[in-house]
Amino acid sequence: MEKILRGVQEFQTRDFPPQREYYEKLAAKQQKPIALFITCSDSRVIPHQITRTEPGDLFQLRTAGNIIPPYGAVVSGESATVEYSIAVLGIRNIIVCGHSQCGAIKALIEAGNLDELPAVKSWFAHAESTRRIVRQKYDHLSPVERAIAATEENVLVQMNNLSTHPYVAARLATGDLNIYGWYYDIGTGQILQYDQQEGEFMPFDGEVRAAAPLPLRGRMTGAGLSLAQVTNGSAE
Ligand SMILES: [Zn+2]
Repeated sequence: MEKILRGVQEFQTRDFPPQREYYEKLAAKQQKPIALFITCSDSRVIPHQITRTEPGDLFQLRTAGNIIPPYGAVVSGESATVEYSIAVLGIRNIIVCGHSQCGAIKALIEAGNLDELPAVKSWFAHAESTRRIVRQKYDHLSPVERAIAATEENVLVQMNNLSTHPYVAARLATGDLNIYGWYYDIGTGQILQYDQQEGEFMPFDGEVRAAAPLPLRGRMTGAGLSLAQVTNGSAE
């Protein structure tokens, strides 16, 4: 905790004072975030850092494995966050971002015993489609490639889950909402975005690709990007 306590102190005494006016302005007006950013709780994923955005820009929802329960499955904080972001904040962009080396995805696809983690076990019910898809489609891949494929498929599964929420469905229907699927590689800093036309996660090339209408059909080739492709920033 020492590091955190020292950090708080330094923020208050060193960082904040010269920016007081900025923060006062931030507090005075209602937030108007650019996007709802849904990602994993993993401590290595920092949405503001990888998008170079600032306080006020990203409304965030973070869960283990960036899983979003479908509407009606449970009364959850996730549904409340999604609903509030659209209905009250007027969010028009939602980014669902999975990441490399995701512990949740690893646990999900490795048929380990989760009896000692009952909350995780029931949480994974909302990603059961991911697990099935991986078993059906990616059994031939190496563990590393399978984890990448699983993470990407899970982004699509969760985008579909998201589309079951009434506000999301309604705004998608009128074209007032865009949903983007991303994969963030921690070790290379690269972000891939889902290209619905190609049916693949592709490197950023200056164009934003929203996936709609949902539901999505999943990754087309089933081969999975190789690590080398991800690292080089090139994909077929
Ligand atoms: Zn994760």
